[in-house]
Amino acid sequence: MLAGETVLVTGASSGIGWECAQVLADLGVRLLLVARRQERLENLAQELQTNYKIPCLPQALDVRDRLGVQAWFQNLPPEWQCIDVVINNAGLSRGLDKLYEGDIDDWEEMIDTNLKGLLYITRTVLPGMIHRGRGHVVNIGSIAGLAAYPGGNVYCATKAAVRILGDALKQDLLGTPVRVTTINPGLVATEFSPVRFHGDMERAQQVYQGLTPLTGRDVAETVAFCLTRPPHVNIQELTLLPTDQA
Ligand code: NDP
Repeated sequence: MLAGETVLVTGASSGIGWECAQVLADLGVRLLLVARRQERLENLAQELQTNYKIPCLPQALDVRDRLGVQAWFQNLPPEWQCIDVVINNAGLSRGLDKLYEGDIDDWEEMIDTNLKGLLYITRTVLPGMIHRGRGHVVNIGSIAGLAAYPGGNVYCATKAAVRILGDALKQDLLGTPVRVTTINPGLVATEFSPVRFHGDMERAQQVYQGLTPLTGRDVAETVAFCLTRPPHVNIQELTLLPTDQA
């Protein structure tokens, strides 16, 4: 059902995005892979082209750059501009500080990436989806968007915003066949935690103590499940947690 469709994955250079690329490649899609680290994307694309014989286009893109996102889309080869599915996955958290102690630059980075970046990408690809009468927007939210935790403040707020944006977009798209899904994972073992703690691996590892976190593949398989439902079925929101996460 999904084979041959063009899927844009943001944040494909590691973690959940990287695993989404693997799982979807196995389903025979055409993959447009973006993130900032070009070399990683190129290695991934080469691997997928070799293993799955699918068309793959790796492109460096900073989703925070509004004009850059527009220019990137306009400069895509025409055969890559018809995007059927977008997985808005690029995102990060910085620090775990109390709001009154946190670094305001960290706030900006989270809001610009998790929220504004997602908006820029979605705004860019939606008109084509509506015009062609097909499309699916998958937003990677977080359990942090449903329940705050100490020090989570701005990150939680960005992910709560992703959820409500998904609901609002669904309303905007009523009457079109374009679907919108929000996936809210709990703890996933990726580079997320090292990025959050600026490379402090000891702090990063402490996050997973006492539980078995999800893998990026667990989340990617959930994304694939949502994408492969029949066109009249929209999984609006789905939360997946490690079994032992409170
Ligand atoms: P990773 O750090 O492994 O992956 C994050 C990806 O986002 C990387 O590919 C990174 O690529 C990309 N990215 C970050 N900033 C930008 C940017 N400005 N422009 C383009 N790409 C960017 O973490 P995860 O895979 O865990 O995170 C993926 C998503 O899942 C995020 O939205 C995160 O909030 C969410 N999530 C993660 C959870 C977890 O416990 N890991 C739990 C719940 C949700 P590059 O650096 O090359 O640009």
